Amino acid sequence: MPIILKSPAEVERMAHAGAMLTEVMDLVAAAVRPGTTTRELDDIAREAIVQRSAKPAFLGLYGFPATICASPNEVVVHGIPSDKPLRGGDIISIDMGLFYDGYAADMARTFAVGDVSQEAARLIRVTEESFWRGLEVLRPGARLGDLSAAIQKHVESEGFWVVREFVGHGIGREMHEDPQVPNFGRPGVGPQLKAGVTLAIEPMVTLYAAPVVVSEDGWTASSGRGNLAAHYENTVAITESGPRLLTGRSGG
Ligand code: MG
Repeated sequence: MPIILKSPAEVERMAHAGAMLTEVMDLVAAAVRPGTTTRELDDIAREAIVQRSAKPAFLGLYGFPATICASPNEVVVHGIPSDKPLRGGDIISIDMGLFYDGYAADMARTFAVGDVSQEAARLIRVTEESFWRGLEVLRPGARLGDLSAAIQKHVESEGFWVVREFVGHGIGREMHEDPQVPNFGRPGVGPQLKAGVTLAIEPMVTLYAAPVVVSEDGWTASSGRGNLAAHYENTVAITESGPRLLTGRSGG
């Protein structure tokens, strides 16, 4: 499929959806603490999305059973919310999306639950930093490989591992559009990122290299016992003057 370019008016509509999703993520973040269950976080997200006259984007997508993906510790992505309480020292990745006014927004963050190990805190920080390193190279005319390579370079310079099994994606009227957006690759290759390209850029990083395996529930994707995973995602538009963040806030 070709990359679907968005007009400035469409980008505005996506920014509106993205601003809503950022508010919802703030509400979820405020509830992350020892003792909270991920099902409670899911309820908070769903109610906040519906309250804003938006629609949860993940609920029912390919059959996914919840509004948020809640992925603790070594779970990389697609964890299903549960009644198991979060414990101090856990890390928890929350990924969610919504549709508003015909357009999608997609966003993920990894949170520390109470006090976490220095290594876990560094993993979360480096994963976020790699997103911003990627964003720095995005200007009209840059190639997709420039973005991928910038993310990979930062993660590996810190001694961590870029997950290969899952990648980011184009986004717009659909949650998943072309192109795929790998967090690894070579500069100078891939499609040109012209103004109007809208992407969900989402580095997923683990402590060390290991295959990511999907569990029996058909969703939960884990990198192996003790191999912590972090995720950081924003929806971004390429404009004539450079990248525009449609979810989250610049500087993190
Ligand atoms: Mg995504």
